[in-house]
Amino acid sequence: MEKYVYLFHEGNGDKKELLGGKGANLAEMTRIGLPVPYGFTISTQACNAYYDSGKKIPALVEAQALEALSRLEEKMGKRLGDAQNPLLVSVRSGSVFSMPGMMDTVLNLGMNDETVVGMAKLTNNPRFAYDSYRRFIQMFSNVVLDIDTYYFEQFLEEVREHKGYSSDPEMSAEDWQEVIVGYKSIVKKHTRKEFPQDPKEQLFLAINAVFDSWNNQRAIVYRRLNKIPDHLGTAVNIQSMVFGNMGNDSGTGVAFTRNPSTGEHVLYGEYLINAQGEDVVAGIRTPQPIATLKDEMPEVYQQFTETCKRLEQHYQEMQDIEFTVERGKLFILQTRNGKRTAQAAIRIAVEMVAEGIIDKKTALLRVDPDQLNQLLHRRIDDKYQRTLLAKGLPASPGAATGQVVFDADEAEQLGNEGKKVILVRPETTPDDIHGIVASQAILTSRGGMTSHAAVVARGMGKACICGCEPLKIDLKAKQFTVGETVVKYRETITIDGSTGEIMLGEIPMIDPELSDEFQLLLAWADQERKIGVRANADNPEDAQKAFDFGAGGIGLCRTEHMFMDLKRIPIVQKMILAENYAERMEALDELLPMQQGDFEGIFEAMQGHPVTIRLLDPPLHEFLPDKEELLVEVTKLQILNPGSTELKEKELLLKKVRQLDEFNPMLGHRGCRLGMIFPEIYDMQAKAIFYAAAKLADKGMEVKPEIMIPLVGHVNELKEMRQLVVDAGVRIQEETGKQFDYTVGTMIEIPRAALTADQIAEEADFFSFGTNDLTQTTFGYSRDDAEGKFLQAYIEHKVLPDNPFAVLDQDGVGKLVEMGVKLGRGTKPTLKTGICGEHGGEKSSIDFCYRTGLDYVSCSPYRVPLARLAAAQATIRHENKEEVYTTA
Ligand code: ADP
Ligand code: MG
Ligand code: MG
Repeated sequence: MEKYVYLFHEGNGDKKELLGGKGANLAEMTRIGLPVPYGFTISTQACNAYYDSGKKIPALVEAQALEALSRLEEKMGKRLGDAQNPLLVSVRSGSVFSMPGMMDTVLNLGMNDETVVGMAKLTNNPRFAYDSYRRFIQMFSNVVLDIDTYYFEQFLEEVREHKGYSSDPEMSAEDWQEVIVGYKSIVKKHTRKEFPQDPKEQLFLAINAVFDSWNNQRAIVYRRLNKIPDHLGTAVNIQSMVFGNMGNDSGTGVAFTRNPSTGEHVLYGEYLINAQGEDVVAGIRTPQPIATLKDEMPEVYQQFTETCKRLEQHYQEMQDIEFTVERGKLFILQTRNGKRTAQAAIRIAVEMVAEGIIDKKTALLRVDPDQLNQLLHRRIDDKYQRTLLAKGLPASPGAATGQVVFDADEAEQLGNEGKKVILVRPETTPDDIHGIVASQAILTSRGGMTSHAAVVARGMGKACICGCEPLKIDLKAKQFTVGETVVKYRETITIDGSTGEIMLGEIPMIDPELSDEFQLLLAWADQERKIGVRANADNPEDAQKAFDFGAGGIGLCRTEHMFMDLKRIPIVQKMILAENYAERMEALDELLPMQQGDFEGIFEAMQGHPVTIRLLDPPLHEFLPDKEELLVEVTKLQILNPGSTELKEKELLLKKVRQLDEFNPMLGHRGCRLGMIFPEIYDMQAKAIFYAAAKLADKGMEVKPEIMIPLVGHVNELKEMRQLVVDAGVRIQEETGKQFDYTVGTMIEIPRAALTADQIAEEADFFSFGTNDLTQTTFGYSRDDAEGKFLQAYIEHKVLPDNPFAVLDQDGVGKLVEMGVKLGRGTKPTLKTGICGEHGGEKSSIDFCYRTGLDYVSCSPYRVPLARLAAAQATIRHENKEEVYTTA
């Protein structure tokens, strides 16, 4: 018989897939003897069974849940629905991966008109009992019966106002009773039924709702965003209640064992006295920092810090812990690996090695390469004198500039239009996720460092400031004020999430530097990794940046970017417009010293590391003006200024543009096909490289140029172009009397090149897989058309798992890469291989490259640190034969 329900003491921390993260950790904490309120977990398999039976709880699941309930009742000495001594429980969802704020918890389940009386007597605290009951009605109605919380809040507000109170603590037991009557009529109005009084009915309605919530909109969005598979399902945890709202000797809070923003090794968290459950994270009352608990409840604080330490040692990971204090007694309600910023992830990993908690390899696996992006972002220039508008809590680091918006939908709309926006809200809720995704940063006037906005922003690596109370937000008027200053919808502000500072307008930013811990972690990565990391860089500045970030060479230097320079483009055009060889040579002679200068700069920056230079690749029309614009200009001139020299020049240009016009330039006259027809262009480029090499050799500097011929599809193309390069080399060595080493290779970016790699390797010293073009040519997609037109729909409908231009298609394009490596090395065992598409900076593609035996990956300079880490992880992961990525 399938087992669907597990009492907490029957599970353990390894059963995440079955019990969900929350359930597994509750079981584990129970197992190691921590004070966890007792309960049971209905497994993720039950969730799948629920969907398999057409959204019905199968009889077997129901029977096992009822059985577990009686065991819980025995253990607690209370019964669900018992008028004298009622058991109350929470119903909490929990999937394999923690999904912050995705699914809602119901507290105080089991309350009804009878048990509330029992509770009042039992606790000798009627106010507490009625407050709990009304909370339950409100929460249950919202989460399970789907009635908007707004109606309840509105009603409560009215009652409060009517009584002349300004806050909830002023409400008496009788006042709450009055609220309950009103709440029940709201429920009746919306559902046309009484609020369910039978606790078992309440329980199963709640279980149903948890299973349903697995497929609510925000859960689906979150899963898509984080690539969490839909079939995992969620577990349901039923747990006896403990009460943080029993008076001033009670409270509830959350804490991280280390600072999740900076990584500093201090307890970091917040709590509220006399409060329940969500009150802390909801951002309704601004909570107190955990340090003050030391004075308010010294014994509880002591016990709590010890528990935190124990949990961290046990899990060997920074923990995010929820706790409640009921009448001076501490209970732990949840623990999980804490989400953290990249900065914190690095510091924690490095310090845990120093503290002897984990080893270096584990530390390397702890940091998600994708997160590193955050650290490589620009920040506000230190020299800038800041004029502050206001200051809030520094909830997530980084600086951002953007136009203020006050609504998630508007943020999404403007964000999609490419506008930079900052979402400003009193507080955020899970329903704002899409707006947060589209914003540069988040700013809230309420809530603490563990509020929804803070947690989500840190997870996404977005700057965030919370609890900025001087900010008075007027959602209706779409503006906020700070004192006298009014900031209106779409005005620009800048925020610094590391300090909590808010400033008007746009502010100068500077490039990032790598912290000492980051450098150390990357040094460890370099010791571990068995695959090289190079950068794609087209000019000396980028080459310098790449070198500073630890690139071991340039994997792709695109020479056309040197052609595009504003000062050079007229010469390039002259070269294209040339009617004969002599004219063309004249232009090329002008270009040569310029290219040579660029190469010298790049070689110097790379200090003897290899530099792969690709000869001219794009079709020539890309250097000429747009055809339609030119046509308009010519037509205008024909009317306004016939016979002018300007018109003659433009007509000539138009004639050439028409000659070069292609139906499908991606597959047209480009790459080595240019070199084949205009060998003098490639000859000039080869000479520029060799002159630069000779000059630096003269200065005693080592240079390692690797000359790369693009878009080869047939070995004969490479044979001819290689000969051209070699001839130029011989001539320059003779002319300058300098010796220099160089190699000649090709890009593999046409399927035929991969298919005939054995032949092509005869003429190549190296292969560099140009996976951008190889993806286009393998799929038969033109990237711009695909991304602009249908690719998004393909990904949404799961026709494709990912955008193949971002994540290498291992099954198709990858197979060609594998074949290319294998065939090429079969001919020439010393053949050097690398990848230079954008995939060279993407972690799963890097993993693939390592497994395929490539010598290096090459990516943009800013992604080099990410690639170094990902390369180390690939190496470590495969020596341990562990195939999955750890999500920190
Ligand atoms: P989430 O995953 O959104 O954090 P939780 O299931 O952890 O949801 O619950 C929400 C809040 O309710 C948390 O503050 C939690 O500590 C509190 N809570 C959950 N179960 C209980 C319980 N049995 N007794 C008291 N508080 C509880
Ligand atoms: Mg929780
Ligand atoms: Mg290409």
